[in-house]
Amino acid sequence: MHQNSLEYAQQCDAQDPLKNFREQFYFPKDEKGHQQIYLCGNSLGLQPKKTSEYIQEELNDWANLGVEGHTEAKHPWLPYHEFLTQSMATIVGAKPGEVVIMNGLTANLHLMMVSFYQPATKRHKIIIESDAFPSDKYAVESQIRFHGFNPKDSLLLWKPRKGEELCRFEDLETMMNNFGDEVALIMIGTTNYYTGQAFPIQKITQLGHQYGAMVGFDLAHGAGNILPNLHENGPDFAVWCSYKYLNSGPGSLGGVFVHERHANNPNLNRFAGWWGHNKQTRFNMRHEFEVLSGAEGWQLSNPPILSMAAIRASLSIFEKAGMENLRKKSLQLTGFLEFLLDEMKDERIQVITPRNPEERGCQLSIQVKNADKQLHTKLTAAGVISDWREPDVIRVAPAPLYNSFEDVFEFVNRLKKIVI
Ligand SMILES: *Cc1c(COP(=O)(O)O)cnc(C)c1O
Repeated sequence: MHQNSLEYAQQCDAQDPLKNFREQFYFPKDEKGHQQIYLCGNSLGLQPKKTSEYIQEELNDWANLGVEGHTEAKHPWLPYHEFLTQSMATIVGAKPGEVVIMNGLTANLHLMMVSFYQPATKRHKIIIESDAFPSDKYAVESQIRFHGFNPKDSLLLWKPRKGEELCRFEDLETMMNNFGDEVALIMIGTTNYYTGQAFPIQKITQLGHQYGAMVGFDLAHGAGNILPNLHENGPDFAVWCSYKYLNSGPGSLGGVFVHERHANNPNLNRFAGWWGHNKQTRFNMRHEFEVLSGAEGWQLSNPPILSMAAIRASLSIFEKAGMENLRKKSLQLTGFLEFLLDEMKDERIQVITPRNPEERGCQLSIQVKNADKQLHTKLTAAGVISDWREPDVIRVAPAPLYNSFEDVFEFVNRLKKIVI
């Protein structure tokens, strides 16, 4: 059981086996030079101190070697993405052949739908959760139109019940029961960016497959946060970004998972590019497209090495910390946050994220009745970096890699002073 005191928070920090990782990150400061309480890793993760060295190494190799850097750089650029594969695969619970780093998240979502959304006269529907991230919704709707269908007929929303904030699995079952033979794809964001709800990946995948649909996940808020265990849980594909919990810098490259069962599937459509072509003959430039096996076969372009260097820096930290350890701390840290919010005993404050730790990551979405954006402005003035969603929700995400129990205690302390 937690205790509501600063001493208790400091004691938890002292006993935290991951406590030293905090020092490996830069924390933003206010005008007076005070370090801010950063609870916004769900939006942009903090910069690891070692990132600049990793990027500088590539800048040096580029300066000294020019084009030769493709093969002669300390970390040669031609196979550079391969240096990221193993640790990224570990983070999402995949086999290395199932994972590749490339492009931005939304671009990857489109590439995956080119392959895994092949609508037919009867089976043309896509199911997404009703408050999916806007970019995902735009991508899905535009794919539906691209195939000559209308989102009005082809897009189904998995909605919370009236008066509720969260989606219930049994309602997805009912939808599949009613329309399953018309559903081509289920595409769910987990954890949900707004409510923080983590959906059951395996159950959704089995449900979709049982009705003959493809199943994909957007792990923008899942990678580096929950343990999605993608290979075992078995979805057809997944996409994510590296700049949220994975701390790889604004707009850095995204990740893609394609399940092993599709590694050499000739029946999939795909948009191809030279980086997806056989590595041995890629530079002969004369051959018919000869696709690489596995996720690498979806690559289009030679990738931005400077972005990949930042990812490599960040992944080296995740390797040391270990995803299982991070998740373990995360459960305690977010549990402490929940405990302190409950201790406020303030009726205006309601956590809309699931109470069951298995159904959430580190983020809690806190609804403050009758509040407006001023609350967020005041929190920022009080040195707390959090995230506001209209109409009345603050999202806070204590990241186990760099946030402390004291951060969480201080946040609730400052929140209390503001809502009074
Ligand atoms: C952050 C986020 C995005 C952002 O997409 P980009 O293509 O990286 O700009 C998309 N979907 C979800 C669910 C997100 O959380």
